[in-house]
Amino acid sequence: MKILVAVKRVIDYNVQIRVKEDGTGVVTDNVKMSTNPPDDNAIEEAVKIKESGKATEVIAVTVGEEKAQETVRKALAVGADRGIHVKAEGIIEPIAVSKILQKIVEKEKPDLVFMGKQAIDDDCNQTGQMLSALLNWPQATFASKIEVKDGKLEVIREIDEGLETIEINTPAIVTCDLRLNEPRYASLPNIMKAKKKPIEQMNASDLGVDTAPKIQQIKVEEPPKRKAGIKVSSVAELVQKLKNEAKVI
Ligand code: AMP
Repeated sequence: MKILVAVKRVIDYNVQIRVKEDGTGVVTDNVKMSTNPPDDNAIEEAVKIKESGKATEVIAVTVGEEKAQETVRKALAVGADRGIHVKAEGIIEPIAVSKILQKIVEKEKPDLVFMGKQAIDDDCNQTGQMLSALLNWPQATFASKIEVKDGKLEVIREIDEGLETIEINTPAIVTCDLRLNEPRYASLPNIMKAKKKPIEQMNASDLGVDTAPKIQQIKVEEPPKRKAGIKVSSVAELVQKLKNEAKVI
């Protein structure tokens, strides 16, 4: 069984995001970039399935600029066998990423595609669902537990009401939740070994996919600053302020 895992390079989740002065986006120059957090869970799960003997190969794929290759390299350092880097500049919207992934799936013929549930930069939560529609494959989104059975997957999903257990046939798309597992750290020897693992590079245009944005971003702005709070000296004063000033009781 072959597992393809989509990994995206995003601004590190610890970075305090700054909006550009002209409102055209967020500052990315000299900002720490990392793998989108749920994509780390997706790689971890694929590697664990391979270690359990149920998969034979894990392939990490990314779509993005030259430096996006670092994300694939990191996946190789934690156990993926080989990588694919589809080069594309600028903002690549979920529809373009899913069309690119569709081409990669048609070429590689994996049994499973693992992805993150959502990218923390665009918060779209669309790419997995679009890929499933393009391929006409079953999908399990927000997976917090995955069990591989013969030709099927049992997946526990995080939903508003609690946990839902579903069964889907393979080949399938699974988008991974942060609660799925604890991603491992790459050890130094494995980082060194990963340098020798192959990464195939190609351009999005070689795959015949148009990556021009379909959405025009009009403006990006900081959320409004919260006003400072005040301290009250008694419960009576608090009640009075809630009643007369905030008018909430
Ligand atoms: P999104 O639909 O943008 O929230 O992204 C959902 C998931 O799709 C991510 O967690 C990744 O697994 C995958 N994905 C999105 N964009 C890319 C990209 N440029 N390269 C590789 N994977 C991506």
